[in-house]
Amino acid sequence: MPGRLYVVGTPIGNLEDMTARALKTLQEVDFIAAEDTRVTLKLLNHFEIKKPMVSYHEHNAREKGGEILSRLLSGENGAIVTDAGMPCISDPGEDLVRLCAENGVEVRVVPGPSAAISALAVSGLSTDRFVFEGFLQPQKNQKKERLQELKNERRTIIFYEAPHKLCDTLAAMYEVLGDRKITLARELTKIYEEVVRTTLSQAVQLYEQKEPRGEFVLVVEGMQQEEQTFSFEEALQMVQSLVDKGQPLSMAAKDVARQTGFKKGELYSSFLK
Ligand code: SAM
Repeated sequence: MPGRLYVVGTPIGNLEDMTARALKTLQEVDFIAAEDTRVTLKLLNHFEIKKPMVSYHEHNAREKGGEILSRLLSGENGAIVTDAGMPCISDPGEDLVRLCAENGVEVRVVPGPSAAISALAVSGLSTDRFVFEGFLQPQKNQKKERLQELKNERRTIIFYEAPHKLCDTLAAMYEVLGDRKITLARELTKIYEEVVRTTLSQAVQLYEQKEPRGEFVLVVEGMQQEEQTFSFEEALQMVQSLVDKGQPLSMAAKDVARQTGFKKGELYSSFLK
């Protein structure tokens, strides 16, 4: 009988956020697949857990995935952890979970903190509906192109960003999205935790004056209803562009309806005509 894979969330800074169940799971499994075994060793040492580890990261996922799967199929139980937060969220794990699911290995989640959800919760922005974008592409053109695609998104948008790319990203956001509200959540749960609730123009100015340090989540307000000025023609063009990218028509019509306020059925039938 195959073993199980446990997807285990670990703290995003403060070790006291390690859950009792995460500790118990890491103590009980036969092995731990870790993004960086040196980082995880520090965590295990802190909690006095001794456990064999295998390295599993984006560059060896294919080869190590097969190895891990064989161990699970032979009856061992394993856990996957990353350097911080929830595996699979802008972190390795997704492929391994899929591989297990395809091969009849049960996958259980041991939930822990995620920087995205933690930042959203303290952002002060709308939490009713939100989208997670993770990291933008570092190249200027690709970054702006993606932001352009997000310009009409009405839901709150969550991004991850590295400190050395923050100024470029804020400038691109201001240029493409206009002067929206943004919350910069920095070093959450750590000593220098800071949550700045401001606007994109002010954020650009702020980080022109001081060097960004630490880990950041950017929570950006979605497009406000009053900014909206779409003609039906423009909405149909948006449907066309999503369909061209391979999105099924019904889904494209639904997305565009949400962004523009036109009815999904109207967009759908006009597009077919
Ligand atoms: N899987 C992780 C999670 O669930 O939060 C995210 C991993 S991703 C590779 C790392 C990014 O998460 C960082 O660049 C930063 O944007 C964000 N991040 C992680 N820890 C953070 C913290 N303590 N405070 C703010 N942002 C954090």
